[in-house]
Amino acid sequence: MDLGLKGKTAIVCAASKGLGRACAHSLAREGVDVVIAARTEGPLMDTARFIAEDTGVKVIPVIADVATEEGRAAVLAACPTPDILVNNAGGPPPGDFRDWDRDDWIKAIDANMLSAIFMIKATVDPMMDKGFGRIVNITSAAVKAPNDILGLSNGARSGLTGFIAGLSRKTVCRNVTINNILPGPFDTDRLHATIEAGAKQQGKTAEEVANARRTQNPAGRFGQPEEFGDLCAYICSAQAGYLTGQNFLIDGGAYPGTF
Ligand code: NAP
Repeated sequence: MDLGLKGKTAIVCAASKGLGRACAHSLAREGVDVVIAARTEGPLMDTARFIAEDTGVKVIPVIADVATEEGRAAVLAACPTPDILVNNAGGPPPGDFRDWDRDDWIKAIDANMLSAIFMIKATVDPMMDKGFGRIVNITSAAVKAPNDILGLSNGARSGLTGFIAGLSRKTVCRNVTINNILPGPFDTDRLHATIEAGAKQQGKTAEEVANARRTQNPAGRFGQPEEFGDLCAYICSAQAGYLTGQNFLIDGGAYPGTF
């Protein structure tokens, strides 16, 4: 299937590794030029080189923290009017809400709610003017089925989800869609860091905890980032103009509800 994206431009935030990197790679395979951002130079440059060599598109790496105003300005300077915007940032740490103060909450809200809202604010009107735009926010399965130790994530991402529900109905008439993808357990550095933290807490090995989590999942495995990236590319496709305001759970069937 040709997704009709050849020659378009995308900003993919937090894209040197994991799910962001997979979204950038899937879009690049469809002929999209990508601006990718992350805070650490080495992995970002490696990813930029890999995507450019593998797909032949133009890849611009920007070293930036998208949770900050300066970081977002640097990304937008590299691509002021993208056709596609994928919002992403690192997830907040786990813990007990009794230990979090205002600064902890502000950090989580900056990274997992406001960074996406300000990137959208900077790009959505030009998208509407030209009659094409696709915005995807990477959130979490925890938005649908909250995880008690990830209260910062549950709270900040639910705020973003509520905001998107309203805005996405205001942009679709100009062929600008805004959707969220909610990952369950995907085989990335973030997942392995969470597994190691859980193993320490439970006095088990990381392998034991990882095996238990794989077994609990109806698919019997973790998701592969490429599966996530390809879903993102479809949501960004020319064909997906009637899809907006949705929360796409991709979790191997882990969420047990009918709807
Ligand atoms: P990952 O493998 O740890 O990759 C995170 C990427 O984001 C890296 O490239 C990192 O590079 C970049 N990054 C983090 N914070 C950034 C910031 N403030 N500004 C710019 N770049 C930033 O994580 P992942 O598994 O892909 O997760 C992506 C998102 O999905 C996270 O919010 C995570 O909480 C959420 N999620 C993941 C899973 C899962 O199972 N993987 C499940 C549910 C939700 P630098 O560190 O160099 O900046």
